[in-house]
Amino acid sequence: MNSKKIWFVCGGQHLYGTEAFSQMRSHANEIANALNEYTECKIVFKELVTTSAEITAVMRAANAEDSCVGIITWMHVFSPSKMWIEGFSLLQKPLLHLHTQYNREIPWDSIDMDFMNLNQSAHGDREHGFIGARMRLSREIVTGYWRDEDVCQSVAQWARCAAAYAFSKTLKVARFGDNMRYVAVTEGDKVEAQIKFGWSVNGYGMGDLTEVINNVSEGDVSAKMDEYNMRYEMNTNDVAAVAQQAKYEVGMRRFLDAEDCRAFTTTFEDLHGLKQLPGLAVQNMLFDGYGFGAEGDWKTSALTAVMKYMAQGLKGGTAFMEDYTYNFAGKDSAILGAHMLEVCPSVAAEKPKIEVHPLGIGGKEPPARLVFDGTDGHAVASAIIDMGDRFRMITISAQLLAISRSMPKLPVARLLWKPLPNLKTSATAWIMAGGAHHTCLSNALNENHMRTFARMCDMEFVLIDENCDLDALEKELLYNDVIYRLR
Ligand code: MN
Repeated sequence: MNSKKIWFVCGGQHLYGTEAFSQMRSHANEIANALNEYTECKIVFKELVTTSAEITAVMRAANAEDSCVGIITWMHVFSPSKMWIEGFSLLQKPLLHLHTQYNREIPWDSIDMDFMNLNQSAHGDREHGFIGARMRLSREIVTGYWRDEDVCQSVAQWARCAAAYAFSKTLKVARFGDNMRYVAVTEGDKVEAQIKFGWSVNGYGMGDLTEVINNVSEGDVSAKMDEYNMRYEMNTNDVAAVAQQAKYEVGMRRFLDAEDCRAFTTTFEDLHGLKQLPGLAVQNMLFDGYGFGAEGDWKTSALTAVMKYMAQGLKGGTAFMEDYTYNFAGKDSAILGAHMLEVCPSVAAEKPKIEVHPLGIGGKEPPARLVFDGTDGHAVASAIIDMGDRFRMITISAQLLAISRSMPKLPVARLLWKPLPNLKTSATAWIMAGGAHHTCLSNALNENHMRTFARMCDMEFVLIDENCDLDALEKELLYNDVIYRLR
């Protein structure tokens, strides 16, 4: 992400003479540098634009430059917005309109018309806002003083999403085996997903994968075992079963890297040539940033890869997840999330243990997996579903709970969370909106990251948080159906 850039573009015009141009450039540069302190990708002052031709040129250049993942515009003075129409009609990168001004407070004793003409973002940004609204531009608007922490953080969040959006546009997903038979929610329109999100989703034969796995050398397996021993606690005597997973991991990485894929799916119904369902192998790859979806779930796999990219450098983890079972306990009612095996250890509260246990599903040998309890704190969980005429992202806010019970007969990764505002309301809303059983859960990202990413993709976004009102949600879903059909 730190090789990516956001271009900061300052708007002006010639009406007030050109004397102030150097001052405007220097102010814009100072603001861009201050914002840059907060971001993983670089925010660079690019240009003071004062004519239609200059604006169009900078937008064209932004489209053509791969390292540029977004544009921030700010009007130091009044910049007539008809000048921006051609440029904005061409712009293909995410846009943030920063509504700030260079000076924090009014210099009451010295303020005169010259000062006002130079510092009139309140005026110029309104003209700029109009053309954004008039052209129906998808954009983020951040308002406030540019040195304030909340303003810098909002810009930084958006920048992270813009970089993840660029990543999404080039993401390739490999599917080993098809969708779990008869399952509906993990299906979807892959062509539309590529148009919308950029995801190129393709199937590969298990025979081709197992050929690569069978050619993994003993030396590569033993290096991978060293990594497992360093990262995790070996809590089994069945080293051979663990070595199987090491072999799978080396092979799968080799296969995915050769195909330039950063996300993949497996399914327990198609493991031809493998002795175990990939468990530990998948978990360790998730930890290193690969996206994954079980049972052929390519949407959750791609979303997990995007969310992991977005969360780079942030505290916390991001994991493929499944709502598994409930604990109905009044106001403390909670969801126990887990999967057969494949939950990412980035959300572990403790050093994960490698264990080998039989798996009732799939009819294969007992697979090695990571066993751990999840961490606590605030989290979001998101799913993308295909509504037939559009994709919908559904996101919940949740409170992850520390697990106080041991569950000795459940040797998988386990997370416990209380969805907001409570289980009853959140789960009703989730069911009403058609949310999947697979999600990507993150305590590194927040609701705004997910909303902003959905907006960049022009995707329907349904948030279920502490303010959830079921009556309002029912109407929102009904209205959205009409709106998306009209579009
Ligand atoms: Mn599943």
